[in-house]
Amino acid sequence: MTISANELCHRRTGCRLCGSDRLSLVLKLAPTPPANAFVPAQELAVTQPCFPLDVFFCEDCKHVQLLDVVDPRHLFEKYVYVSGTSPVFVKHFDDYAADLCQRFKPSEGALAFDIGSNDGTLLKAFKSQGLRVLGIDPAIEIANRATQAGIETIAGFFTPKKAQEIREQHGPATFITANNVFAHIDDLSGVADGIAALLAPNGVFAFEVSYLKDVVEKTLFDTIYHEHLDYHSVIPLIGFLKRHGLELIEALPVDSHGGSLRGIAQLAGGPWPVGASVAKAVLQETTLGLDKAETFRRFAADIEAKKQRLNAVLKGFKADGKKVAAFGAPAKATTLMYHFGIGADLVDFIIDDSPLKQGLFSPGMHIPVLPGSAIAEKKPDVLVILAWNFAAPIIAKNQSFRDAGGRFVIPLPEVEVV
Ligand SMILES: [Zn+2]
Repeated sequence: MTISANELCHRRTGCRLCGSDRLSLVLKLAPTPPANAFVPAQELAVTQPCFPLDVFFCEDCKHVQLLDVVDPRHLFEKYVYVSGTSPVFVKHFDDYAADLCQRFKPSEGALAFDIGSNDGTLLKAFKSQGLRVLGIDPAIEIANRATQAGIETIAGFFTPKKAQEIREQHGPATFITANNVFAHIDDLSGVADGIAALLAPNGVFAFEVSYLKDVVEKTLFDTIYHEHLDYHSVIPLIGFLKRHGLELIEALPVDSHGGSLRGIAQLAGGPWPVGASVAKAVLQETTLGLDKAETFRRFAADIEAKKQRLNAVLKGFKADGKKVAAFGAPAKATTLMYHFGIGADLVDFIIDDSPLKQGLFSPGMHIPVLPGSAIAEKKPDVLVILAWNFAAPIIAKNQSFRDAGGRFVIPLPEVEVV
């Protein structure tokens, strides 16, 4: 069942960054339910609605985006919340805060404000650098817990009105940060206006987003799902920020989340020089053709070819009477399974090491998610690695499966049988 225009999902008519209606459909992925909507056994009788997963390219500002916006309440309702911040994540934010402080030398007690501050990990790092900190997060429980733990966090959405209130109460912000939230917000213009309203004259806005360049170069098409409305690149962002009174001064590639972009912006006419990284990123994007619809049509054709190859391999195993299962149930597996047609007719179950997902059933297709012990119990012959970015450690950890004659299939970036 595909629902396109009802109360759960609406389609924008204009580009999220520039408002243009000159939008070209460049990649049509199979409709899916929310990628994280794993369900318990008692809900299996309920059919989960699928929503369009169509990727559009703006012919005017070159921004790549989804126009179908699933109601965030529906999207995050069944979110399997992974609590406990990993040490890698904490270190990333510690370094991030230290970098910004070293470079922009804020005065003692200056305000650092984080949009989508979650449990306050980044703000803790700013606090230890001697800054005052304040966060905002729409998840009420997470916001309350952060406040109780000493990181004052407003429960709510960041809007221009909210920015004005914060400025009156706390003064202007020297740092405003937004990490991995800039792809989740439908009203990006409102957020940008709020940032411009709250920023101190010498302040900077720093953000991290998944980078479109990595999506294309590394075939990360399965990171396209409804929670990620935007696939950012530098060329459209420069114009977007400018229209909201901001100026991009750095565009740096970072390693997190399979390839991200860290942007830093100031108020237009601010005191900081524009770094060489901005022109460098623009040149790379132009060379890669990220400013042309044709590039994404080729990307779509490449994905289609990979789908055909994977299906031929899996159907071959099935025809030989092999028992096929899957390994890894990250959110992105939903896009991969739906678009590549890896359903219950091909795989019997999915192995996942996270106890939070074990015992649940995959979004829409309702394939059971089982712990690693199911490999010995159910003896599959073939395991398709859906968490393919972790193929090497998964294979290393399950050497006994291979020793017993088992085969791994890696679906991306190239179809591979190990
Ligand atoms: Zn646009």
